[in-house]
Amino acid sequence: MEQMIVDYMPQVKDFFEAHRAEFLEDLAKMIAIDSQRTEAKEGMPYGEGPALALAKTLEIAAGYGLYTENWENYVGIIQLDDRKERKLEILAHLDVVPEGKDWTVTEPFVMREVDGKVYGRGTADDKGPALAAIYALRAIKELGISLQQGVRVVVGCDEECGSSDLDYYWTKTSPAEMTFSPDADYPLINLEKGRFGVKINGTLPKQTGVIKIQSVQCGTKSNVIPADAEAVVSGIETEAAEALLSQLTAETGVEAKLLAEGDALHIALKGTAAHSADPDAGNNAATAMLQFLAKLPGEDFAMVQKLHDIFPHGDRHGKAAGIYGSDDESGEISVSFNILNIDEAGNLFAVVDSRTPISMGEPDLALLPEKLKAAGYTAETSISAPHYVSPDTPLIKTLLAHYEEWFGEKGECIAIGGGTYVHNIPGGVAFGCAKLNVDNKMHGPDEFAEVDQLLVSGMLFTTAIYDLCR
Ligand SMILES: [Zn+2]
Repeated sequence: MEQMIVDYMPQVKDFFEAHRAEFLEDLAKMIAIDSQRTEAKEGMPYGEGPALALAKTLEIAAGYGLYTENWENYVGIIQLDDRKERKLEILAHLDVVPEGKDWTVTEPFVMREVDGKVYGRGTADDKGPALAAIYALRAIKELGISLQQGVRVVVGCDEECGSSDLDYYWTKTSPAEMTFSPDADYPLINLEKGRFGVKINGTLPKQTGVIKIQSVQCGTKSNVIPADAEAVVSGIETEAAEALLSQLTAETGVEAKLLAEGDALHIALKGTAAHSADPDAGNNAATAMLQFLAKLPGEDFAMVQKLHDIFPHGDRHGKAAGIYGSDDESGEISVSFNILNIDEAGNLFAVVDSRTPISMGEPDLALLPEKLKAAGYTAETSISAPHYVSPDTPLIKTLLAHYEEWFGEKGECIAIGGGTYVHNIPGGVAFGCAKLNVDNKMHGPDEFAEVDQLLVSGMLFTTAIYDLCR
């Protein structure tokens, strides 16, 4: 990307450096409010926490002379003034995921700074980035930078549980000409793959042999590759089962434990969990279990073997399922077999979550349901479209140019398998605030944000807003 002149760089840098302490005080106030979604109350569609976090955030913004509105505790808006039209919209969110266990640096809702990092639930996802955007408006106001066109920061209260906050918002207004959301990674995400879901049902034939599958349970969430898989099998000699399992471990890397209980053997497999959009990071315990079941001796397991033929362990991109595809912009399709349950009556239920390249549509995916039908199963499919914005748009060019100036790193577009806050917004992109190769422990214990990363993001937002709206 060619060098560009970024106006106001020294003043903006000075402003953020001078207000570092104040920024962290404000952020600590936001982190102190547990804003995970709870039961709705009168006037609070997501419960008390998100509403309190929204009120506190709008109070902070209003304290700096910014214009704010609370839209019935679904979202809040923050602007330089009260004009309705805006060219640019910045979407961030104030709700958080549950705090979980095993925090070591601080309590989840007591922000603590250690070695240039602030720890606490929401520091990275997404209160820190939200405050950086608010401080960008504050900097524009206090530095007297004038804009011809409007800009709005929207702070939502339900990103983590399905983004119904934005659904509400779009019933009241339409998207701006340009939108970005600092709720992901740098440099910039312009492509979010499509999603292809398959729910599989089948009834296994009555088992007539000595060896019987009593029950199977693998996975609980459709979008998570499971680390754990359990099964109860009866009628098999312990030594025979042990031999099958040590072969399984050798072939898959999945650990196996065996517990005899009367005539039945309890089998527990341990793989590695991962997000199903990133299957190469995991080791799927469900497909390992399917491989074990398919190798049980006897005539009774033919239908299970057919399912295993379609989803062999280690085939994470749908080759055996007949739906492999890729393109330059998106990379390969991912196909993750994430849930497998068989009950005592032989009812089998499984869930597959696939993330599809922009070049693939329904006809390219048709072979998988056909194969499942041929194997004796029913397949219920759902498809949601990918999201793609051309890298040549003025929004992307401007954001990446400013990114290069402020961070001194190459600005380029990246593709992901997950969906972000802008998935349904035409032309919308995800931009910041995490570094691509830094694990900020979002959603886990010890979530943190680097203070400099947040402050430089604020500087970058300030000059980019100026460039886009001047
Ligand atoms: Zn988020």
